[in-house]
Amino acid sequence: MWRKLLSSKHLEPALVSLLAILVWIYGEQHDAFETLVTFMEAHEGWELDELFLAAVVFGLAGAFNYYRHLYKQSEEGKRRARAESDLDWLSRHDNLTGLPNRHYLKSFVDKTERGFGKKKNQSEAKSYGLIALDLDGFKKINDLTGHAGGDRLLKQVAERITSNEAIKLAFRLGGDEFLAVVNLAETPDLEAVAENLRNSILKPIVIDGITNHIGVSVGLAKYPQDSRDLTGAINNADIAMYHAKRSGKNCVATFEPEMLELKLQRSQFEQDLLAAMARNEIKPHYQPLFDLKAGELRGFEALARWTRNGHGPVSPEKFIALAEDMGVITELSDQLLLQACKDAKTWPADLTLSFNLSPLQLSDRLVGLRILSVLGEAGLPPHRLEVEITESSLVNDMETASFVLKSLHNAGVRIALDDFGTGYSNLLQLSNLYFDRIKIDRSFIASVNTDEKQMRIVKTILSLGEGLGLHTTAEGIEEMEQMSILKDLGCDYGQGFHLGKPVDAAQTTDFIVAHFEKKASKLRVSA
Ligand code: C2E
Ligand code: CA
Ligand code: CA
Repeated sequence: MWRKLLSSKHLEPALVSLLAILVWIYGEQHDAFETLVTFMEAHEGWELDELFLAAVVFGLAGAFNYYRHLYKQSEEGKRRARAESDLDWLSRHDNLTGLPNRHYLKSFVDKTERGFGKKKNQSEAKSYGLIALDLDGFKKINDLTGHAGGDRLLKQVAERITSNEAIKLAFRLGGDEFLAVVNLAETPDLEAVAENLRNSILKPIVIDGITNHIGVSVGLAKYPQDSRDLTGAINNADIAMYHAKRSGKNCVATFEPEMLELKLQRSQFEQDLLAAMARNEIKPHYQPLFDLKAGELRGFEALARWTRNGHGPVSPEKFIALAEDMGVITELSDQLLLQACKDAKTWPADLTLSFNLSPLQLSDRLVGLRILSVLGEAGLPPHRLEVEITESSLVNDMETASFVLKSLHNAGVRIALDDFGTGYSNLLQLSNLYFDRIKIDRSFIASVNTDEKQMRIVKTILSLGEGLGLHTTAEGIEEMEQMSILKDLGCDYGQGFHLGKPVDAAQTTDFIVAHFEKKASKLRVSA
C-alpha cells in the first residue's frame, strides 16, 4: 500500500498542499499577518506592502498554473488509458463481425478455469454448453458474390448467432468458424439451442439481390461434464462438429468419448496417407478397355491402389475422399497421373490412358494446365489421355467445370462422363459440355441380362449416346452373356472383370503382350 501511495501521481500535490496548510495554520496561530502588517507600517519607506501584494499575486498565479498543469496531466492520462483500452478491445475482437476472437477466448478460458479451481465445492462452478459452428459451402458463396459479399454473409451469420437469447458469448475463431457459449444453469437444453441456431443460420441470406443458402455443421460439448478443463471441452465440441460435417451437411452432433478414439484413428490414417504419398507408395493399376465390336484392346483405366502398412489394401474411394478432405488431392492426383503417363508411354502408341479426376479437382480452374504440364513432363501426347469425371463434379461448380473441360478439349484430351445414370446431369449439360464418351454405371450392367427394366434403361442410355454423337462404354461386365447383350445393343466399349481385372504396371505389360500374341495367332490361323 505504501509503495502504491509513494508512486501515486497525487502524492506531490498532496505534499505541497499539506505544507501550505501547515504554514497557514502556523501563521494563524502566531498572528503572523498582524505581525507582518505592524512590521510593514513601521518600515513604510521600504514599500513592503507592494512587495507583499506582488508575492501574493505571483503565489496565486503559480498555484493556479501548478493545478492547471496537474489537470492537463490527468486528462492526458485518461486519454491514453482510453486509447489503450480501445487497442485492447480491437486486439480481442474480430473487426469484421465485432465478435470476440481467439485472443479473447483464451482469456475467457483462463478466467473460467481459475474460477473452477478456486471453488471449494466444484458443483458451484459455472457449467457451460459449447456450440462449435462451421459453415458449409462458404467458399462457393465467397466466389460467387466476391469478398465483400462473403463479408456481409459472415456479419449476418454473426448477428443470427448473437440474437439468440440463450447465447451468452459468441466468438469468431477463424474464416467461417464460430463458437457459441450457453450458460447451462439458465438454459439446460443445449440440443434445443443448437437446433434453433442451426435453423436460423439456414434461412436464406440475400446479398445484392442474390438469395444465398449457407449450410452449417454443429458440434456440442459440455463443460465440465465432458472435460475438466474448458480447452478440452472446446476441442470436444470441435471434434463433434467434424463428426457432424462428415455425416452430411447441416447436422448437429453431440460429443461422445468414442469420438476421441475415432479422431485418433483418423489422424493416424491421415499421417499414413501423407507418408505413403511422400514415399510414392500409392500406385496406379490398370484395367483394360475393349472395343466390343472389334474385340480389340483400346486402352486402360488407371485405378489408384494403396496397401497401408499393417492394415492391408485401402479402397481408393476412401483414401481419395481423405485426400480431398485434407486438401492434398491435387498432389496425389498429379503424382498418380505422372506415373500413369510414364507407364502409358511404354505401351503401344494406339492404346489410351483413362484417368479419374475427383469432383473437387473440377472446381480448380488450374487443373487443366496442370494436367497438360504433367503430360508434357511424361512426354505423352494429349490425344492418348482421356479424363473421367463424374456427374457430381458438374453439380458443384458448373462454370469452372465447363471452363476446365473446354481447355482440356481444346488441347486434345478426351473426356468421359463416368458412372452415368447415377447423378443429375441433364441433356443440356451433355450436349453443351465437351464429352466424348459416357460410361454406363456398373449397377445397370450387373442385371442387364436378367432384369428387363435394367435392359430398357441401358438401351435408352445407348440411344441417348448415339443421338448426341457420344461413344458409350459399359462398366462392370462380369459375364460373357452381359458382354454379348451389350455388343448386340450397339455399345461401343466394354470394361469389367470378365475382360480383365485391374493389375499393376508390370502385369499390364504382360497383358498387352498376351493380347497381341493372341491376336497374331488368330490372324495366322485365319490366314
Ligand atoms: P470408377 O472410376 O467407377 O472405377 C471402376 C471401379 O469398378 C473400380 O473400383 C474397379 O475396380 C471396379 N470394377 C471394374 N470392373 C468391375 C467388375 O466387373 N465388377 C465389379 N464389381 N467392379 C468392377 P475401384 O478401383 O475400387 O475404384 C473405385 C472408385 O475410386 C473409382 O470408380 C473411382 O471413382 C475412384 N478412383 C480410383 N482411382 C482413382 C484415382 O486415381 N483418382 C480418383 N479421383 N478417383 C479414383
Ligand atoms: Ca472411372
Ligand atoms: Ca465408373
